[in-house]
Amino acid sequence: MQSYEWILFDADNTLLDFDEAELFALSHTLKEKSIPYTSSLHQTYKVINHQCWSAFENGKMTKSELRWKRFELFLSAIGRSDVSPKSFEEQYLGRLSEAGFMIEGSQNLLEDLQGTYRLAIVTNGLKEVQRPRFRQAGIYDLFDTIIVSDEIGFAKPSQDFFQYTFEQINFPEKKKVVIVGDNLNSDIKGGNNYGISTCWYNYRQKENDTEIQPKYEVKNMDELRSLFLV
Ligand SMILES: [Mg+2]
Repeated sequence: MQSYEWILFDADNTLLDFDEAELFALSHTLKEKSIPYTSSLHQTYKVINHQCWSAFENGKMTKSELRWKRFELFLSAIGRSDVSPKSFEEQYLGRLSEAGFMIEGSQNLLEDLQGTYRLAIVTNGLKEVQRPRFRQAGIYDLFDTIIVSDEIGFAKPSQDFFQYTFEQINFPEKKKVVIVGDNLNSDIKGGNNYGISTCWYNYRQKENDTEIQPKYEVKNMDELRSLFLV
């Protein structure tokens, strides 16, 4: 095992459980709007949210449109166009910012890695949501630096995002840096293209049907631990 100095961690669905956070934020916001939560409503939201993020990533929707448009489409799809999408969005993001649910075992692992490695979070997400979630989860101070795409105007896998991150950590040798993340495109392709090592945190045990090849692949926290700690 090569010796690394820096581990860059993706946040959502690598350290923090985003699915649980979304469930928390959506169900609370629906309740505040007196709309009963059902898993079919949640599925409708997921599909629309995913379509809107793809439109944003492909340049077909601006960031400010993305923020409320997904709720406008969702509320219209469930027959509740009477509810203001902007107020829904505000409440949803407020709730999401409180939802710092860790994936089981990840906090212990971070505490154990801290003595041996320098740690950073590299996350694609909204600025008013991500930092409060890390604070709420009690992990904020475990990291030397935290990079949030929305704050810098670049997102993974863009090379500008990685260049910005390297500036923040004073340009270590690339061979001393590894990124760990669940997303083959943003985390692994981004890291590969930048020339650092990559570790695919494939806890959902998905087939890799892409051309993207991670240097390492782990399927759970124990495998991740044994990759970095003897
Ligand atoms: Mg992720």
